[in-house]
Amino acid sequence: PVAKTARADRADVKVSYEFFPPKNEKMETALWDSIRKLELHNPDFVSVTYGAGGSTRERTHRTVSRMVQETNLRPAAHLTCVGSDVSEINEIANDYWDSGVRHIVALRGDPPEGIGRRYVPHAKGFAYGSDLVAGLKKVADFEVSVSAYPERHPESPSWDAELDNLKRKVDAGATRAITQFFFEAETFLRFQDRVQAAGIDIPIVPGLMLQPNFQGLKRMSDMCGVRVPEWYAFLFEGLNEDPETRNLLTSSLALELTASLFDAGVRHFHLYTLNRAGLAVSVSRILGRHSLKRIKE
Ligand code: FAD
Repeated sequence: PVAKTARADRADVKVSYEFFPPKNEKMETALWDSIRKLELHNPDFVSVTYGAGGSTRERTHRTVSRMVQETNLRPAAHLTCVGSDVSEINEIANDYWDSGVRHIVALRGDPPEGIGRRYVPHAKGFAYGSDLVAGLKKVADFEVSVSAYPERHPESPSWDAELDNLKRKVDAGATRAITQFFFEAETFLRFQDRVQAAGIDIPIVPGLMLQPNFQGLKRMSDMCGVRVPEWYAFLFEGLNEDPETRNLLTSSLALELTASLFDAGVRHFHLYTLNRAGLAVSVSRILGRHSLKRIKE
């Protein structure tokens, strides 16, 4: 499927890259090295996450502001409801607007005690993602993206509740949803059908997790309530002492998933880069997002 994709007409393919704010100087250098490599692929936008409970407020802001100042990238800042009252959120949003940031990825966030604990909204804050979207739209005319869950959010009691929630976020002003990661193209495509059948017409962009290490990927999946298919786990059996093969295998599977989605008509891919360029560059190249054309010109 990869070869087929490589020959296809990819003029209309978009990619976006997600990063997390670096914790120290060494990580910052590594992040900027990745950004410099990835900006050659002309992403539609790049986004920077917000640590649990607002723990990276300053670092997210610094990273996004530097992107505005030093690159031609269009950065989106993630922002969560957790841990802040409405006036703090308004202040953060105003600061972003003043620094030239026009796109926010608006999220509820997870309880500070950890994923899986009961979520209690801040007494003076925004309770859910949809409330935050509405609040941001009052501050300024931000472009707002939100989350979506091809396997349902772990706290959603039903598909109806899941889709109602997404619809509330769209009604509040969100114009794009980025999905939680998943392992099989079918999982995304079935979800996209459900969204369309519910009359929700914003683009649903698949989020592709580019974690080359299977153990790390498994940990992340368990934490976020994402199902690792049996066949996928089976492929890694017996490879505990062979990280090189594990990493190659995970990379091949990510490229295969990209190609399957492309063949099913998907044209925007959001890549969870984990601040590393290698696999994101490979996926972007497979999707035709490389600078060969510009070099020829
Ligand atoms: P919401 O859309 O608010 O929904 C959460 C749950 O609440 C759902 O089960 C929904 O059905 C339910 N719900 C919604 N409204 C109501 C209501 N009125 N009454 C009762 N129940 C309701 N986390 C971070 O901390 N920082 C990040 O930067 C970050 N980035 C992310 C990016 C993407 C693309 C994704 C998919 C997730 C990201 N997350 C991030 C994780 C996210 O914060 C968690 O998944 C969180 O548990 C839910 O946030 P949400 O915005 O999806 O919630």
